[in-house]
Amino acid sequence: MIDPPSRLLLLGHPVAHSISPRIQNAALRSARLSLAYEARDVEPGALDSVLRELAAERAAGNVTIPFKELVAARCVTLTPLARRVGAVNTFWHEGGLLVGDNTDVGGVDATVRALLGDLHRPVRVALLGAGGGAAAVLAAAEGWGGAHVALYNRHMPRARQLALRFPGTCTIASSIAEAMDGATLVVNATPIGMNDASLPVEIERLPHGAAVFDLVYRASETAWVTRARAAGHRAADGLGMLVEQGALAFARWFGMQADRDAMWRALS
Ligand code: NAP
Repeated sequence: MIDPPSRLLLLGHPVAHSISPRIQNAALRSARLSLAYEARDVEPGALDSVLRELAAERAAGNVTIPFKELVAARCVTLTPLARRVGAVNTFWHEGGLLVGDNTDVGGVDATVRALLGDLHRPVRVALLGAGGGAAAVLAAAEGWGGAHVALYNRHMPRARQLALRFPGTCTIASSIAEAMDGATLVVNATPIGMNDASLPVEIERLPHGAAVFDLVYRASETAWVTRARAAGHRAADGLGMLVEQGALAFARWFGMQADRDAMWRALS
């Protein structure tokens, strides 16, 4: 049984410019819940003392870089998805004990299903990056009936480590070109394009007809998504994933659906 949250927090470092408080506070207002969702910048060395404080307060919330794996390691209970990903983006307390979930997977799944329309034909994914976001993509892809993911990462050892955890779904590519060979969906799970207009892959190099999913989000659309769409590719940035993972987290904390329309309006 979930302890009713007394506080809602986003833990990260740094989190000053995070968009999550806007969308979660919109959902709270729409549900007439008198809680506020705050971003809390946690120094990496302070995580354990902050978690003790939050347990005493029955707090719930989200976790972002660099704490997703660290919080997973400290949870007394992990949902099957959080265990599969090895990272927690959503937490709460049950009987005073820390529970972790990963709603990024549901955010990826909803975005890809909206982008591709149907998943009846096996998807061939080129996945760039091997961090927590990439792990969420792999966990989602396990539910896409025969999907194959070709994973490329700048540092190969990290790619190998991640691929080993998803042996039926993922193989390693030694270059971006190799990863994209035959891909029907190209996914950016690196931060490239987060702070400027740089592109994880030049638009001309995208496979003909491939859809594009950029986990990166900004206040306005990422340059990669804008340019891919202009060249005729179906494309989505990370805002839809952000709203969906937030809505799924809200449902875990309060046992009711979040007002997704209100969350979207808070972004405009
Ligand atoms: P992470 O765990 O730090 O992993 C980052 C990955 O990107 C690593 O594989 C890293 O490669 C690679 N990378 C970093 N800088 C690079 C560069 N300049 N060139 C090539 N590769 C680079 O981060 P994450 O949590 O997976 O997040 C990745 C992105 O997804 C971030 O922009 C984050 O905001 C976004 N994200 C969005 C949502 C959403 O809701 N839309 C959810 C989660 C994440 P190395 O291993 O070689 O360092």
